[in-house]
Amino acid sequence: MDKRTVLETVLRDEIMQLLSSPALDCIRETVQSENVRAYIIGGYVRDLILQRTSSDIDIVVEGSGIDVAEKVAEKLGVQVNVFKNFGTAMLRTREMEIEFVGARKESYRRESRKPIVENGSLEDDQNRRDFTINALAISLNRADTGSLVDPFDGIGDLERKLIRTPQNPDITFSDDPLRMMRAIRFASQLNFSIVDDTFEAIQRNAGRIEIISGERICDELNKIIMSEKPSAGFELLEKSGLLKLIFPQLALLQGVESKNGMKHKDNFEHTLQVLDNVADRSDSLWLRWAALLHDIAKPATKKFDETAGWTFHGHEFIGSKMIPGIFKHLKLPLNDRMRYVQKLVLLHLRPIVLAQEEVSDSAIRRLLFDAGDDIDDLMLLCDADITSKNRKTVDRHLANFQLVRTKLKEIEEKDAVRNFQPPVSGEIIMKTYGIGPGREVGTIKNAIKEAILDGIIKNSYDEAFQFMKAEAEKLGLKQAQ
Ligand code: ATP
Ligand code: MG
Repeated sequence: MDKRTVLETVLRDEIMQLLSSPALDCIRETVQSENVRAYIIGGYVRDLILQRTSSDIDIVVEGSGIDVAEKVAEKLGVQVNVFKNFGTAMLRTREMEIEFVGARKESYRRESRKPIVENGSLEDDQNRRDFTINALAISLNRADTGSLVDPFDGIGDLERKLIRTPQNPDITFSDDPLRMMRAIRFASQLNFSIVDDTFEAIQRNAGRIEIISGERICDELNKIIMSEKPSAGFELLEKSGLLKLIFPQLALLQGVESKNGMKHKDNFEHTLQVLDNVADRSDSLWLRWAALLHDIAKPATKKFDETAGWTFHGHEFIGSKMIPGIFKHLKLPLNDRMRYVQKLVLLHLRPIVLAQEEVSDSAIRRLLFDAGDDIDDLMLLCDADITSKNRKTVDRHLANFQLVRTKLKEIEEKDAVRNFQPPVSGEIIMKTYGIGPGREVGTIKNAIKEAILDGIIKNSYDEAFQFMKAEAEKLGLKQAQ
């Protein structure tokens, strides 16, 4: 059997299995008894063939999607949500989310972003899809249940791992510029290539991205970041000209400058490698964002020194200050996720310093205190930040970080400062000296914390209480009777 036949046989089994699930069996039956034509379409079919798991299914109906959805929901005994304005309806079974929509024909006018939408056939509906691999449909009709309707050789493109628009790409991207982001996102997510004329059309139409909302761009960026090798997506964003429009701070990291024979590394390439390294080790979106942003202030802090060469002093500090502006611009959440990214950017050089010197316990305690529960993520980021091509150098740095980890563990076991809680509370200070809340309480509490971090006293109630007494005396406080 040739490759194609094998694929079709495997696919046939998969499709038959899918169609025998209770929900789809019910949908097929309903469609056939109502005498309308309907198809499973789009991403679900693509992912089925790629053997990726997906749990939302789109059903396109030549006729009213809402009517079919309501009948199916009734038979299955589940809720249905109807969105009259969009002509869609959604229902949720235990395994999947199923969306019904009437087949439509779309035409765009140059002067408006909103297409004219009319009822149409399956063919019209497939014509408005963004990529050949997203236009595949599986028939639910009596005459040919389970057969594949593939007008643009989407199967061939899935096999060849290609992203291609079914229509003239200049029109596709100009009609809805979000599709440019989607093309790059799918390439990154599925490890596909974008065919030349489709990619060239993205380069020509990149400027149109300005009409797309930040939220939708951000969704695609997050999907690129979550792909197995996110650098692939960012390289395409850069090459297409989109990156400097949607994320100029990242685009600025690109380039190498040379002076007196000294050059610095390309910080864009470095950043992408750090991001890939983190992606190999962690599925956390926010740790990946921290990797992407860890050196974001290098262009802003770059200086040339005759003896030291290129320096980026303070880039961790300036970088952490830049994060809120970037998050706001990219419509990322301005909450504890953002503060986590800021913290990792701010601290990303600290373990390096600790790995280089004879390190004091107090420096280790301070890092534990500052990083808190994010210390493991920080150490992971530091490992990922080693991008030397020399294996020996990499191994040396990794070994140094291993030593820092051992130290961190020892000190944490001894002093427990990772989740520092003041051993003597403000209430105790106030009660002991018969004072109310105020500056003195803060001063004493802070002095106790500093003394613990510096190793002057142990992180214990007794030592902290004695220390409090000495500090209070300095402030001229007398114990209450
Ligand atoms: P994912 O669910 O991973 O984001 P998907 O391909 O399923 O991928 P959806 O946004 O769920 O993407 O859209 C479902 C289908 O709708 C797509 O497969 C595609 O056929 C079509 N589609 C979605 N967005 C567009 C668009 N901007 N232009 C044209 N067709 C689109
Ligand atoms: Mg989908």
